[in-house]
Formats: sequence, C-alpha cells, structure tokens
Amino acid sequence: MKKQYIIPIFVPHLGCPNECTFCNQKKISGQLKNVTEKDVRDTIEYYLENFKDKDVYKEVAFFGGSFTAIEENLQERLLSTAYEYIKEKKVDGIRVSTRPDCIDKKVLKRLKKYKVKTIELGVQSTNDYILKKCKRGHNFADVKKASRLIRWKGFTLGHQMMVGLPESTKLDELNTAKDLAKLKPKIVRIYPVLVIRGTELEKEYKEGKYEPLTVEQAVERCKELCYFFGKKNIKVIRIGLQSTDTICDPKLKGSEVVAGPYHETFRQLVESAMYYDMVVEKIKKFNTKVKEVEIRVHPQTVNNVVGYKRQNIEKLKEFYDVDVVIKQDLKCSVEKIDVTITKEYKDFLEEDEKVISIKR
Ligand code: SF4
Repeated sequence: MKKQYIIPIFVPHLGCPNECTFCNQKKISGQLKNVTEKDVRDTIEYYLENFKDKDVYKEVAFFGGSFTAIEENLQERLLSTAYEYIKEKKVDGIRVSTRPDCIDKKVLKRLKKYKVKTIELGVQSTNDYILKKCKRGHNFADVKKASRLIRWKGFTLGHQMMVGLPESTKLDELNTAKDLAKLKPKIVRIYPVLVIRGTELEKEYKEGKYEPLTVEQAVERCKELCYFFGKKNIKVIRIGLQSTDTICDPKLKGSEVVAGPYHETFRQLVESAMYYDMVVEKIKKFNTKVKEVEIRVHPQTVNNVVGYKRQNIEKLKEFYDVDVVIKQDLKCSVEKIDVTITKEYKDFLEEDEKVISIKR
C-alpha cells in the first residue's frame, strides 16, 4: 500500500453554525483569516513541491470548522480548486471534516461531484446529555443518520471523538467507541479536551466547574480506546491535537492552551503505554522471577518501547525490578516485539547464598 500524505487546509469556523463550549477554531487551527481559492492553490503547490517522496497517495484535507456548512458558493470554489489537481493527477483525493447535522443527500451529491473520498464527522460523544452539556447542537441520532448516508453513498467514513468532555467518564467514552464501531467508520481521531483561551470551557474551568484530565488520565483513556478500535479493525489516525504555535505547552508565551492534557508527543505517550503493557504481559507469562530481558524491536518501534524520556524502561525497573536491553532488528515486525529472558533472579539468590556461606 502506498504511503499517504495529507495536504491540510484549515477552514476555521467558516460556516460553522455552532459555538461548542470547548471550541475556538481560529485558535485551534492557528489561522485567523478565512480561506480563499488562492490559499488552497498556494497550499497545495507548497506541499507538492516539498513532499520528499513523490510516489505517494496525496490527499487534500479541508479541516477545522464544518466544511459542508460553509456557504455553498464558496464550498464549490474551494472544492473545484482542489479538484483541478485531481484532474491533473497531481493529487489523489479530497477529504473534508464536518458536523453530523450538516450532511444530507444534496450535500453528498456536491462532494461526489468533486471526487471527495473521505468524510470525517465530528461526533465527540454519543451521549446526548454530554453533547448537550458542551452545546454541540446535534445529537446521536444525527450521527447515526449522517454516518449511514455517507457509507451508503460510497464515501469512506471517519469519526472524531473526544475524551474528557464535561461530565464524561471513561465508561461514557468506551460506550461512545462502541456506538461508533457499530456505524463502521474506517478511521477515527481521538482528541483529549484542552481548555482553549476564549472558550466557554475556559470560563467553566476558571469558575471551578470543569476539571480537565491530567496527561496520565488522558493517556489511559485513549489507550483503552485504541485497544478497542484495534480489535474492531478501525484505524486510529490521530490522537491529540496537532501542536502549533498556539496549541502548545500552556507555560509557553503565546500558547492558547489554558489547561488540560497537552503534550507535544501525546500520541507517542499512548503508543508507549500500549507497548509497556505488551512487555509486562510477556514478562508475566515467563512464570519466573525475571532480572533482565532483551527486547528485539524494529527500529521504527524503538522509541515507543523505550517510552518518552525512557519512562517504560524506568517503570519496568521500579515496579518489576527488571532491567531491559534493547536490540534493534530490521527483521522484527513493526507492531510486534520479541522478549527473551537474559537473567533470572534465581541466579542472584544463589550467588548471595554463596557469599553468605563463605563468610561462615
Ligand atoms: S461544530 Fe466544530 S467548528 Fe463548530 S464550534 Fe463545534 S467544534 Fe467548533
């Protein structure tokens, strides 16, 4: 399968009829002005020139805001600009993200005309109470209706969900994932809620009415969701908002993040946590007191196995008293790791006993 490259074009809040309590699209996308055909052209040209590999699947993605709620004429102009590149075979597809209540047959007909392949719906939660709390302005019934229509018309369906929404629990989020899986999306994005400046959520946070998740809690919740989606063969294509000049560490000047589980390598934290579980599970299966293991991994996986700032290695030492030797091996598969025992505790006890007996 060809590698996939995305040409992202942000349409911040353009046409969005809503004001979700957690959203400030202009700040999230880092873009303050509205998008024109020239912007679309310039962005596509820029990316095409700078892609390292040329033989890849290239997709123009209209992110942010609610694409299909943009005024029809502008939608057509933006789509037709991107479509020119498809006709010239410089780009392979177009994807858009939008709200579930901004999808109907007429909208889908327009998207088909410009060869849009993928439609991502901002679902956030399937719990109507939670959706109401964050003023999403749509309910789960809208999600079901839009998802079925999108698949029926032959588009690839994507869903976006959030963790840590006001009053949302870990169980609510797992239930959301289960509800989504039944609608058969091909891809999912998971976003932990960040408190962004200028949003209603910021006000709630400052008044003590909303408590954001910690990074550890968000990682734990996202990890469980990844396990679930993995079992259902649904690809998790993003975890956490993309870092930008404004979506960055709240301690940095210019950051629009007031609070919440921001981390510059959030996805890596989640994946590392999954690899940590994998190593622990393998060690427990050995049924012996392990002192040191050798883990053979594909070079692409090594950072996830070691963990951010060697967290996994240190946790294995702290909680299981196991030392780890990492060996990179191109023959290993990217998803799997090979763990073998190199030292057992039994040997050390024997050595200790010997020392004691000499003293006598
Ligand atoms: S629907 Fe999307 S763009 Fe509109 S306010 Fe909500 S999160 Fe922001």
